[in-house]
Amino acid sequence: MTEKVSTRYVIAGGGTAGWMIAAALARFAPPGTSISLIESDAIGTVGVGEATIPQIHLFNRALGFDEREFLRKTRGSFKLGIEFDGWRREGEAYMHAFGPIGRPLGLLPFQQYWLRAKKAGFAKPLQRYSMNELAARTIRMHRGKTVQGGEMPYAYHFDAGLYAEFLRAFAEARGVRRIEGKIGTVEQDSESGDITALSLESGPLIEGDFFIDCTGFRALLIDGALEAGFDDWSNFLPCDRALAVPCEGAGDFTPYTKAIARKAGWQWRIPLQNRIGNGLVYCSKYLSDDEASETLLANLDGKPTADPRPIQFTTGKRREHWKNNCLAVGLAAGFMEPMESTSIHMIQSAISRFLQVLPQHGGKAEQATKDWFNDQATFEWERIRDFLVLHYTANEREGQPFWDHVRNMELPATLTAKLEQWKASGFIHREHEELFTEVGWFQVLVGQGVEAEGYNPIADAVPEADVRRLLDQTEHALVAQVKPMPSHIDFLQNYVTGKTRS
Ligand code: FAD
Repeated sequence: MTEKVSTRYVIAGGGTAGWMIAAALARFAPPGTSISLIESDAIGTVGVGEATIPQIHLFNRALGFDEREFLRKTRGSFKLGIEFDGWRREGEAYMHAFGPIGRPLGLLPFQQYWLRAKKAGFAKPLQRYSMNELAARTIRMHRGKTVQGGEMPYAYHFDAGLYAEFLRAFAEARGVRRIEGKIGTVEQDSESGDITALSLESGPLIEGDFFIDCTGFRALLIDGALEAGFDDWSNFLPCDRALAVPCEGAGDFTPYTKAIARKAGWQWRIPLQNRIGNGLVYCSKYLSDDEASETLLANLDGKPTADPRPIQFTTGKRREHWKNNCLAVGLAAGFMEPMESTSIHMIQSAISRFLQVLPQHGGKAEQATKDWFNDQATFEWERIRDFLVLHYTANEREGQPFWDHVRNMELPATLTAKLEQWKASGFIHREHEELFTEVGWFQVLVGQGVEAEGYNPIADAVPEADVRRLLDQTEHALVAQVKPMPSHIDFLQNYVTGKTRS
């Protein structure tokens, strides 16, 4: 029998990534595990990352968070989807709403009957068949069963700094040791290259068995020390800068994120209880920093409450997320622009993969385990990348240099294959464990105007009257269910103050 040796985990960095993994280890690692987290107040965090997708519930529930407390403490709001405004062309918007569209009939998913109905001229826009979009567009919120079956799916908008504080309180209460200080050097074993300790500029040496790099874009351990390599995807996603600015809340308190196409990128709008988070993601080759700032400030719904904060990035991912005795999580692992709010989810999925193979006996892991982890991460990241690229490539904003460029750029082969299948037969190929479902792809493909020429001929086996009934009944049932729902703000206020039952 192998002797049990407890593991000393050292987490470098205390942004959303650092505190999420600290909280998860504090909750799930075996007794006797030592967990330390080093963060530097002088450096601070990236301070953005405020829109999520419904998978966040898996994380919050696994840790046993109380939803009302979480919403109160993070000044959070509900999110039913993302509106893409102007991405196909100026003045046109569509939504990637969470949850189902329509209802299946017989063998086929709804999309096949909708495509048939569209060819025959009696299909209505997709939003008429989506509970989430109908509720979002009328600024309503509901929590519970829907006529489409299952619960109405939702995610959150929240204040990233407050979420990190919330996680920190949880982690520290369960024994995580927080060390304030700036990491100066990373000590490595001269033979294996394994990290042995992090040395702080103020003097102390923090030794450990396993190190988790959550130092954000700096990637001090995985890149600085271990040189894990980087797959640069800026040929597919050329935006390389962002400006973030909060403003006072005003106007519609929308239960959805807005992503609004601009001259050389796009702007986000994320409403919280006390303010609206805004930002512009742009490509510096096509837009100067001054123009970016002017564009952002000219398009706020309220008075800015801080100066715009610049952020630079290169889209892509570390070739190995797990190398030697170090795992990179969060921005240290890589970055893709947040148009589908995927980064926090990728932190969470890295944590859940890691917990499945948590190193024992002093932090040692087999190479096969690291290879498995890295292959899974590559698959996940590449498929998310393809989905993001779809939003850009299928634009009709002709005559605008940035948009002309992204319309004509070379596509990843995996995306080209998906587009070919969709165009020929309306079939959406989703491989095992790909994050975005057929319904997500369906909404973006239709919203961006990518036409499916055909549909599955099995859809023709159903009499047209049945297809009409499917569409009409679904629409009427959804509209009837949405109508009496409370407004988002009323629902939220009653919910966080405990007046609405969960
Ligand atoms: P950071 O927040 O940068 O934290 C790094 C930590 O490392 C800090 O604590 C810092 O002090 C510490 N550190 C660094 N160097 C040292 C050192 N030498 N010594 C000690 N400590 C050090 N994600 C979403 O899911 N939804 C969104 O809507 C979204 N929007 C985004 C918009 C933009 C423009 C960007 C850039 C990102 C966005 N993200 C979004 C991603 C999200 O912000 C990050 O995934 C998340 O905040 C995690 O960041 P992090 O913890 O990895 O890094």
